[in-house]
Amino acid sequence: MPELPEVETVKNTLRKNVIGKEIKEVKIYYPKIIRNLTPEEFREKLKGERIVEIDRRGKYLIFIFNNYILVSHLRMEGKYNLMQNEELSKHEHVVFEFTDGYNLRYHDVRKFGTMDLFPKMEITKLYKLAPLNKVAPDPFSSDFEFDSVYQKLKKANKPIKSALLDQTIVSGIGNIYVDEILFMSRIHPLEIAKNLSRDKVEEIINHSKVVLNKAISLGGTTIKSFTSSHSISGRFQNELLVHTKTSCPECSKEITKIKVGGRTSYICEDCQKMIDKTL
Ligand SMILES: [Zn+2]
Repeated sequence: MPELPEVETVKNTLRKNVIGKEIKEVKIYYPKIIRNLTPEEFREKLKGERIVEIDRRGKYLIFIFNNYILVSHLRMEGKYNLMQNEELSKHEHVVFEFTDGYNLRYHDVRKFGTMDLFPKMEITKLYKLAPLNKVAPDPFSSDFEFDSVYQKLKKANKPIKSALLDQTIVSGIGNIYVDEILFMSRIHPLEIAKNLSRDKVEEIINHSKVVLNKAISLGGTTIKSFTSSHSISGRFQNELLVHTKTSCPECSKEITKIKVGGRTSYICEDCQKMIDKTL
């Protein structure tokens, strides 16, 4: 599943390639992807619109047009490809045809991706509407506030790993990266979030920025089917410390696989001990 660094990579690739392009026509082959409008309305509104900016909120891509804003989630396997006259694949469900002969195709084997179209508005207003109202700021957002995250974690009576994956607490930290962040912070993923000290939470947030920044600079992580637009493969998988690994890079002990909230988690049981409350 694409996570924040992969979506950031897609955003950067799209910015370079489609900003300024004007839509001649939109073709929709799988209408369920369009959620808040009928396919006819979606097509009609986007005709003649020009892409002026592309942004990201959590794992959502935000296409800003002259008069509309498109919010797109890739979910499991969605991707965008810029094409010309290539034959349409059965996995290409929405095609944005541009006036310059290029077309941007939304490709999604699993068909779980979503698109919502809104009239243009202040971006902070858009953040208050579904689906973005469920997405907390990520550690790089201009509206990210450490205290707000810390207070939410103080109330979270669940494993820290599950709390960090909860997009209403902090967005953009997915399953691969949370394992890396907790390993670097020497925290057991089953540790109850509300038991962590302010210093430990600060460590988690700092390591989140380090891990996500590094992943973004390497174009994300290629595991299974993720490729960004133009099939750029991420290289962060070569930098993983514990996720998918067999021995600890710190102490050489065997990495163990456990389940936390149903998600497979890789940990070093020596480096990531539960807090001893008897001390
Ligand atoms: Zn270790």
